[in-house]
Parts: sequence; C-alpha cells; structure tokens
Amino acid sequence: MFTIAIHGGAGVIRRDRYSEAELAEYEASLRACLAAGARILQAGGKALDAVTESVRALEDCPLFNAGRGSVLSADEKVQMDASLMCGATGNGGGITLVERIRNPILAARAVMEKTPHTLLGGPDAEKWAQAQGLAMADPAYFVVPKRLEQLREAKEKKKIELDHSGGGPTEIPDSNTVGAVALDSRGNLAAATSTGGLTNKLSGRISDSSILGAGTFASNATLAISGTGTGDIFIRNVLCHDVHALMLYRQSGLEAACREALEKLAAAGGEGGLIALTRSGELCLPFNTPGMFRAFQREGGAVQVGIFGD
Ligand code: ASP
Repeated sequence: MFTIAIHGGAGVIRRDRYSEAELAEYEASLRACLAAGARILQAGGKALDAVTESVRALEDCPLFNAGRGSVLSADEKVQMDASLMCGATGNGGGITLVERIRNPILAARAVMEKTPHTLLGGPDAEKWAQAQGLAMADPAYFVVPKRLEQLREAKEKKKIELDHSGGGPTEIPDSNTVGAVALDSRGNLAAATSTGGLTNKLSGRISDSSILGAGTFASNATLAISGTGTGDIFIRNVLCHDVHALMLYRQSGLEAACREALEKLAAAGGEGGLIALTRSGELCLPFNTPGMFRAFQREGGAVQVGIFGD
C-alpha cells in the first residue's frame, strides 16, 4: 500500500489573501505535482523516485518557492537549496547555494548517488552538476514577477522576510518551500525538500532545506519527514531528526512527536509545518501557521488537498 504527501510551504495563508482563481491554481498545481510522484508508486516504483519526481514538478511550477519561482536574496539573487533521504539505506544528499541548476533536487539526488559526500554547494557544485549532465538554466529563468514584488515590499519594511510569519516581524502571504514524503509498496520511506529560502536573505545564507536532519529526514525505523518554516530554527533544533529521535528513543507516536517538535519550534520563536509519514502509512501534516499548502494520496484513495488551517 503506497502513500504520498507533499507540501508547498506554510505561512500566513488566509482566505482573504487569495482570489478564487488563485486558490484553484494552487490546488490544480498541488494535484499535478502529487500525481507526478503517485504515478511512480502506482506502477510499483520506489519512494525515493516518487519524492524526487514530485519535488522536481514543484520546482518547475512557478507558484512555489523552489526552482523557478524561488524568492530573491537582498541583492536579487536566486540561491537554491535542496535535499533528500532514503529511509531504507540511510543515504541522503543535499545541494546548497546553487543559482543555475534547473532542478536542485536532481542535484541533491546526484550528490547522494554519485559522490561519497552529503552536501555540495556553490559554483563548484554547479560545475560538477553540469558535468553530470544535469540541466542548467540562466539565472533569469528562476525569477518571476511576484518574487521581485515581495523583495521590494520586504526592503521597504526593512525585513528579512521569512515568508512564514503570522503578524510578527515578518508578514508575507506564503512561503512556498516544497517537500514530499512517500511510502512505497515495498515498505520503504523517503523524503525530499527544496527551497529558494527567504526573501531578502543575505546572499550565501543556507537553509534547513538542504540539511539532513534539519529540514529533511527519512528512516525506515521511524518516518519520512519534510519541514517548512523558520529554517534557522529548524537547523538549530535539528527539528526533523528530533521527531525521528522522539519516536526511536522515547517510542513517541507520530502525532505526539510532531506536536512536541512544533512546540519546540514555537518556543524558540519559529513557525512552520511538517509532513510526516510512517511505514505503517500513518500520516501527520501539522503546522502552527494559518495555513500550509498540502496534498496527499493513499493507494486506492482520492487525492486530498488542504490549504488553510480550518
Ligand atoms: N525553511 C525555509 C528556509 O528557511 C523556508 C520555508 O520553509 O519556506 O529557507
């Protein structure tokens, strides 16, 4: 029995901020990106391939803050991060600070499969990815008008816009970082995450989305998990690994472990959400923001899409 879930970021996602047409577009995109991975699982494919494919589709969709549509740094650069992890083997890979790799998640996968390393970053990583045959794109390809507007607003407010905040120092409609978790018919788990990071961030800033344990984790012993939110706090609390550790060492249930991790995030001043899935197919999609773009499907079941908290 397979299960797959994706997120398109948590944040100040309230009905009054979107038109019906915009919501319909988000929903259709979430469905299409979920289907990209579900198709693989339906055909008996691997969880790792499914999460890679769903995140690749989310990166190609300009609505989301990953790949094309990524947010901009203070000096108007798109610098992208991604990571993924295989629950069956414990292998994983990440990529950070890349500006020209069309699909950062494919580069993260290549780091995992073709190097003895776990995290590559910057221009040398791009050169390496290009030599592996990965598709490159001009930096202008990633920039969409909405993100330029968000950067302008953030600069006016003199804020580093963590797209997630709900009335605190940052107030931006949506974060749109993306992620996927999957369980395949062999009982294996995998997780993947990809982001352009934060609006108006310093160029050179690295997000949790590229760091295993912080924004992404998978272990067949416990769960597959992808986070979205205040990335620096995810890193400092190794938040995704924390959920794993609560389950492994304290035998916490999935929901209790996720709740505890989100409480820790909030106590440290952070906001965000998680998508988390166990080998028995239990799924938990919690968030402490007004909304989180999300969708999931179980084998034989209908696609479920959620955006708001109510
Ligand atoms: N966690 C991401 C970061 O800090 C942002 C997000 O989830 O939207 O870069």
